[in-house]
Amino acid sequence: QLQSKEWIDNLRFDERGLIPAIIQDFESKSVLMLAYMNRESLLKTIETGQTWFWSRSRNQLWNKGATSGHVQQVHRLAYDCDQDTLLLEVTQTGAACHTGEYTCFFEEVVVGTSNGETGGNRTSGFRILQELIDTIALRYKERPEGAYTTYLFEKGLDKILKKIGEESTEVVIAAKNDDSTELIAETGDLIYHLLVLLKQKGIPFDDIQSELEKRHGVKDIPNKTK
Ligand code: AMP
Ligand code: ZN
Ligand code: ZN
Ligand code: ZN
Repeated sequence: QLQSKEWIDNLRFDERGLIPAIIQDFESKSVLMLAYMNRESLLKTIETGQTWFWSRSRNQLWNKGATSGHVQQVHRLAYDCDQDTLLLEVTQTGAACHTGEYTCFFEEVVVGTSNGETGGNRTSGFRILQELIDTIALRYKERPEGAYTTYLFEKGLDKILKKIGEESTEVVIAAKNDDSTELIAETGDLIYHLLVLLKQKGIPFDDIQSELEKRHGVKDIPNKTK
């Protein structure tokens, strides 16, 4: 499919010869960035297996990561139903955003309110959990100095396990308290350290999700047949 260039001719490049490309993390499925490709950068992407874009600000071909080292290895390239958007699933080295953030989409806006203010909002559903998983993965790869997560990875498994022991105990103690503030904080600590442990052990969070879904399904069966 990729060998034949016919599908490229059928893409709907805009009047500038550009097509938007959504860049998604192959593992976490988080959306990392949006950039534009022209025919040449698309061909270079296919040829090299790394992302190439057309920089509208610099007016030149742009190999993502050429200066920062934060290259993107392409695993999957797809186009949408009406051939006007590309989707690339990549393995991201370091941060996708030039600000150093893992994803370019870190600015969140409150929706469902009239004023549309920014910041301070609760992230919906388990979004924050995914962000935490992404950040931990980034720390694991980059090991930035001074970060607590870097410290844990450098100290290794025994240190992480010791922390999980401590945090579990703190959860138990906090639960005896009438005030829930401490229990909430300690539960957060425990979940964070569990996520660090999973990364250290090379277990993707997907496996935990599958496990939970499996059990959930099993538990549902007797209920349904009752
Ligand atoms: P890089 O391609 O990572 O070596 O970065 C080179 C330059 O490209 C940066 O200084 C930015 O101007 C731009 N750039 C890199 N990543 C992004 C991005 N995710 N979104 C927009 N501009 C970017
Ligand atoms: Zn479309
Ligand atoms: Zn960015
Ligand atoms: Zn704690």
